[in-house]
Amino acid sequence: MSDKQIKISIGGDTQFVSASQFVAKKEKPQPRRTKRRRGPRNPQPQEWLASDLSQQMIADYKPFNFVDGEGVRCSLYVSGCKFACPGCYNRVAQNFHYGHPYTQKLEDQIIRDLGESYVQGLTLLGGEPFLNTQVCLRLVKRIRQEYGHSKDIWSWTGYKWDELMVESADKLELLSYLDILVDGRFEEDLKDLTLQFRGSSNQRIIDVPQSLAAGKVVIWDKLVH
Ligand code: SF4
Repeated sequence: MSDKQIKISIGGDTQFVSASQFVAKKEKPQPRRTKRRRGPRNPQPQEWLASDLSQQMIADYKPFNFVDGEGVRCSLYVSGCKFACPGCYNRVAQNFHYGHPYTQKLEDQIIRDLGESYVQGLTLLGGEPFLNTQVCLRLVKRIRQEYGHSKDIWSWTGYKWDELMVESADKLELLSYLDILVDGRFEEDLKDLTLQFRGSSNQRIIDVPQSLAAGKVVIWDKLVH
């Protein structure tokens, strides 16, 4: 069988060569890259400390709202969170430098707002309140001094209850001032917009004093769904 000649051009010169020399190289099929879904980060006990991380910055303060817990509430959004949950509801507040410094003036304003008879209490969220314990402890201590338990204190956290139990002393101290803790990362796969005060079904609304007394998680007795 005769080998077919083909015309090629090399550096502008035309040449005839045997076609059998030019067997097209087959590309090796590349394995299809599947995008690995990243979940939230999981710290070791006491790996993240407010003393190392917090810049004592505030992302927002929302007085007199109805969405961050039971009743009318004043909500303080602290800046900085390392959990990096995909789908985080407040991504800008993951940055510890975001927003404005916490000031005495803001604290006095919060205390005044809480004094309104129709306000049920304070809510801490963020960002991560437990990585901003300098700010949160200062505020909750003053609330207990001025209002005792006539105002309740709720906090959201990315930590799970069991993780907090082996965390740093400042985190445990903050927990001791709370009435209600909504715990756990936001898990996009478990997202459920119908849940009461939570974004994903792994999160729990925990009665803090009862849980500390019982040594195990006690769910808020007003939980509806
Ligand atoms: S714990 Fe909350 S604030 Fe932090 S990344 Fe997750 S959803 Fe966002």
